[in-house]
Amino acid sequence: MQTDRILIVGGGIAALYAALAMAPRPVLVIVPEPLGMGASSAWAQGGVAAAMGPGDRPADHLADTMAAGAGLVDPAVARRVTGEAPDHVARLAALGAPFDRDLHGGYMLSREAAHGAARVVRVGGDRAGQAIMATLIRAIQAAPHVQVLTGISAVGLLVESGRVAGVEIEGAIGRGSVHAPAVLLAGGGAAGLYAVTTNPLRIRGQMMGMAARAGAVIRDPEFVQFHPTAIATGEDPAPLATEALRGEGAHLVNALGQRFVCHPMRELAPRDIVARAVFAETEAGRRPCLDLRAIPVCKHFPTVFAACQRAGLDPARHLIPVTAAAHYHMGGISVDARGRSALPGLWVAGEAACTGLHGGNRLASNGLLEALVMGWAAGLDIAAEIGARPAPFAAPLLAGEVTEPDPAKVALLRQTMTQDVGVIRDAPGLTRALATIAALEADAPPAFLNMLTAARMIAHAALSRRESRGAQCRSDFPGQLPPKSTLLTLAETEHP
Ligand SMILES: Cc1cc2nc3c(=O)[nH]c(=O)nc-3n(C[C@H](O)[C@H](O)[C@H](O)COP(=O)(O)OP(=O)(O)OC[C@H]3O[C@@H](n4cnc5c(N)ncnc54)[C@H](O)[C@@H]3O)c2cc1C
Repeated sequence: MQTDRILIVGGGIAALYAALAMAPRPVLVIVPEPLGMGASSAWAQGGVAAAMGPGDRPADHLADTMAAGAGLVDPAVARRVTGEAPDHVARLAALGAPFDRDLHGGYMLSREAAHGAARVVRVGGDRAGQAIMATLIRAIQAAPHVQVLTGISAVGLLVESGRVAGVEIEGAIGRGSVHAPAVLLAGGGAAGLYAVTTNPLRIRGQMMGMAARAGAVIRDPEFVQFHPTAIATGEDPAPLATEALRGEGAHLVNALGQRFVCHPMRELAPRDIVARAVFAETEAGRRPCLDLRAIPVCKHFPTVFAACQRAGLDPARHLIPVTAAAHYHMGGISVDARGRSALPGLWVAGEAACTGLHGGNRLASNGLLEALVMGWAAGLDIAAEIGARPAPFAAPLLAGEVTEPDPAKVALLRQTMTQDVGVIRDAPGLTRALATIAALEADAPPAFLNMLTAARMIAHAALSRRESRGAQCRSDFPGQLPPKSTLLTLAETEHP
């Protein structure tokens, strides 16, 4: 299929917000599930970080972002994103996002880990993602320049004469391709590659995998953020207990009743520190739990309350078992300030991209913010490059067999990532993981090959980084080297 529409892969916040920025250029969005499903965006609990409170300043937000990022944050990107944050929150509010307000109409702000101030705009306590997505979906449905095709996944990039010329696609009824003047990948991160994850199961490194296979440069892939308080009741994915709960005073205790986070900020220390503390308690068999008994969870955190209820737990009476779970990918496809990747014709936004904002450790609620600021910038840049051209609605042709990944092999990959490329890493484990990944690559169908390629990039970079920094903790290299980002192509992983 050939279209003159700008092609967007994915239907989360980055994709939809970028599509709005492209108006009035015709846009085609392809996405596997109906909008709002299968996206991390709809599951976001805390909200969007922005310096909007009395006395708070973008410069303070910038300083906290830099401090959390463990020496690898790009200061220019962080200055821009934190500086533009209030404008994007205002644009969402103007579109109808129902942010929580106080009696005077001011934003109610949550406090999250490693923020020096209450700085996270929220909706309904823990329903920010769902509400923002509903707002954007309404705007997209009313936007005449956007066409959305559901039931379609991208599985590869078409590269012609050195330029990305479209994507290979799969749907329930077969395979095909879409040729387009420009492609924006906004298909989310990679944390679903892990057996213990908070991400929707669709979010498994597909974007990074397909871009790496096409020759894109991948930046800092080793930096996977583990959230310290995923609810450990056996659900896959593990439901999240938002950090805002700890901002409200919830604390962590182990089976001996001891508080175990040894840090001046205690439970509000940076995420990597709290995640390692929770992981250590789990490994020692001391069952870490979140004590929510003093928090009105039922009233203010309905999503968390529902997750507890599904497991037969009452947060007003019971301690809630938690585990460290893969949650966010700081690394991704390397892009510049306009969202351009190293491949001409390919832009990337949202969690799939690595802009340099998060460095080695994302500051809480900077993820949605980055998807907004950089998604908008990418949308404007593509629209400017492609220019206005009329384009009728597109209808893809699909034919032939789709080979589904073997569930047992997917499970093996996810277990391998959690065990050997997880919270604490070492050379033997990472080497073992790379061998497992290599064995699984033989005859892998495209969607699984994308997952394996993403896993390979993460494990290879983790093995090559012989230090502990931010979310990368090497038990065999606990010290630090001078700070340096990883820039990696798939070809380079073939020569460890
Ligand atoms: C439980 C949870 C809570 C979170 N809470 C917060 C928070 O409070 N604040 C914050 O800042 N961040 C939070 N995050 C992180 C944040 O939600 C994500 O980083 C952000 O939503 C990513 O947006 P995105 O648009 O890049 O990707 P997503 O929202 O993940 O959307 C990806 C889209 O791509 C589609 N897709 C996937 N594969 C393909 C394919 N092959 N072809 C076509 N389409 C595809 C998916 O179906 C989906 O529509 C949270 C994440 C989780 C999981």
